[in-house]
Amino acid sequence: MPLPYPGPIAPQWQAAAAAKGFAIIGRIRDRYHLALSCDACGHVHASRIYTLMSAQPHCPACMIARLNQDAAAAGLAHLRLDANSRHYSHYRAPCGHSLRRQHEIVRRMAAGNTGLRCETCHAATEASEADAKGWKLLGPDLQGNPNYRLYAHADGCGATQRIARANMQTGRFECSSCGEGWAAALSFLYAMRFTLPSGQELVKLGYSRDPDSRLAHQLRIGRDMPCEILRRVPMRTGHDAICAEKPLHAKLRDRHPQAVVDPRVYRGKIRVCSEIYDTSLTQDVLALLDGIARRALDS
Ligand SMILES: [Zn+2]
Ligand SMILES: [Zn+2]
Ligand SMILES: [Zn+2]
Repeated sequence: MPLPYPGPIAPQWQAAAAAKGFAIIGRIRDRYHLALSCDACGHVHASRIYTLMSAQPHCPACMIARLNQDAAAAGLAHLRLDANSRHYSHYRAPCGHSLRRQHEIVRRMAAGNTGLRCETCHAATEASEADAKGWKLLGPDLQGNPNYRLYAHADGCGATQRIARANMQTGRFECSSCGEGWAAALSFLYAMRFTLPSGQELVKLGYSRDPDSRLAHQLRIGRDMPCEILRRVPMRTGHDAICAEKPLHAKLRDRHPQAVVDPRVYRGKIRVCSEIYDTSLTQDVLALLDGIARRALDS
């Protein structure tokens, strides 16, 4: 207790203290303070005279006892009051982790109206779910969807991707960057013809899981530009398609270097930066694709 402070104790202070569950032990510290003894527990605490006269003083020992009781009823242990907010305390959860919770929430837990979720345990659960699938949990979804998380393809290409947690648990997703699913799925080699606004015709050779969608949604920038798919050759997997496509480009570049079109010609019109040839090569491109189609049939 702080030092006693000399001076009389006013009778109206005595009356207020008695009415509010306390007895005045004496004046302390300065002219504003009294030492109050709690009728319920006997604990003595320092109270401002102003508080005693204008409000209900609270016995800190009784408050701690109440918090301990609420915590025990909620299956927690009360550790200490929170230094930053008088409505919060730190508690020990059954898992052993320390949690910061609002007192009112703990009372509701004690009454069975709300449950407990340890953030640390929960984060560990989600992290190990991702780990089991070869991914690393980075954090919450940047777009704010509570069902999604941000993950990195740790055991693969390292790319980050937002994935629904439910899909991470079941594995029903694929990496949109290195996509094992994509590499293993049916794919196509294709030849496409574009007619630029200048009237110049170009031919593109490439591979895609879905050439029509690639043409409609990715390659063509202007909706009005005439274009068509000239040939589709199904390949067993995306991986097969890449492996077959690369040597075709090498062959075309080797044999017809003058037919490789300068990207500046189609910049802003076709969303790609290479692999486009002059239309004079169309028959060569189709012949190469037909050759691959025949070999695919034979094998
Ligand atoms: Zn008390
Ligand atoms: Zn925990
Ligand atoms: Zn990947």
